[in-house]
Amino acid sequence: MCSKQLMKYKRGKARQEIAKEHLSKLYDFATNSQYPLEYRKKSAELILKISQKFKVSLDKHYKILTCKNCSSFLLDTNSFSIRLNKGHLVYKCKNCGEIYRIPYTSKNHKKSQIKP
Ligand SMILES: [Zn+2]
Repeated sequence: MCSKQLMKYKRGKARQEIAKEHLSKLYDFATNSQYPLEYRKKSAELILKISQKFKVSLDKHYKILTCKNCSSFLLDTNSFSIRLNKGHLVYKCKNCGEIYRIPYTSKNHKKSQIKP
């Protein structure tokens, strides 16, 4: 790899790290219920756009913000319901009825860090 290619590669990695920092801040904003819903929806949109532009793979707790089926935002209790079932958090989209299951205990019975 020549020096120019190396520089491009490093620049890309640095950009991804900066994008990840932004994503964590936006996620905190989107999940905080003190802020108005419109701004939280915008921040969820930004999370998707930034992850696509900088090719950052999203963790499970980021993916829960939007429904994959109907692409609506699952931010308030009017748009989704949560229940517990056999070690899983079960999210149900009220718009289309899509169901998402996320385990809240690992195999070693350690608590996972997913925010409900
Ligand atoms: Zn849906």
